[in-house]
Amino acid sequence: MIGRWWRRRLDARRISRRAIPDSLWESTLQCYPFLGRRSTADRQALRELTSLFLDEKEFSGAHGLEVTDAMAVAIAAQACLPALKLGLGIYARSVGVVVQPGAVLARRQVTDEFGLVHDYDEPLSGEAMEGGPVMLSWEDVADAGQSAEQGYNVVIHEFVHLIDMAGGSATGMPPLPDLQARRHWKMVMEAAYARLCRALESGEDSFLDPYGAEGLEEFFPVASEAFFVAPESLKAEQPALYELLAGYFQQDPASAA
Ligand SMILES: [Zn+2]
Repeated sequence: MIGRWWRRRLDARRISRRAIPDSLWESTLQCYPFLGRRSTADRQALRELTSLFLDEKEFSGAHGLEVTDAMAVAIAAQACLPALKLGLGIYARSVGVVVQPGAVLARRQVTDEFGLVHDYDEPLSGEAMEGGPVMLSWEDVADAGQSAEQGYNVVIHEFVHLIDMAGGSATGMPPLPDLQARRHWKMVMEAAYARLCRALESGEDSFLDPYGAEGLEEFFPVASEAFFVAPESLKAEQPALYELLAGYFQQDPASAA
């Protein structure tokens, strides 16, 4: 086991090896205002964690896309936001990121009520697989500064899937310290999820993306996107859910604004 002091020395070497130039870091914070408005201490910690992420994870471009430093820093910084206090160990089972120029069409199949099988293409802006790379559409990542107002963020969504999977299979519950914490999580999440489903059924407006109603394993990433990029809106609509996520991620983005 590596002592803490030694660990810090190793980290410091890796951070300096992947140090992010001031101008590149500043332009990243400008492109993604939900990063820029965090406290000075959070921004500094995020910058260091981003360097460690860039040192640990592989980036590759698909379909001839060249992943520039600016693209890698943009993705890494957003991926590190949920891990700011949890540490990068939470992403230990992911190897890296594959960046696609735009959404990818995935071949899907459904069987209807008459037993007929239908093939269709579903456009994916991102995908997280256990033990595999995270796939992201650059078009969607690049739009994350604008889409934050609606609570969307593809990078945070996919990396929160990894956090969910860090505890085993994707169930909508991350690894938690004890039974009491798991019970509390289940109670708050299920109530918040039911509230979104009810709102959609009755045609009411809901800030949370309707995609979160697909299941609890989608609700956790969808709620986390809103928590990090539009914290005031989530807090206003679902205060108990906001508190649960603030406790889990050990961050309070609504007050950092
Ligand atoms: Zn998802």
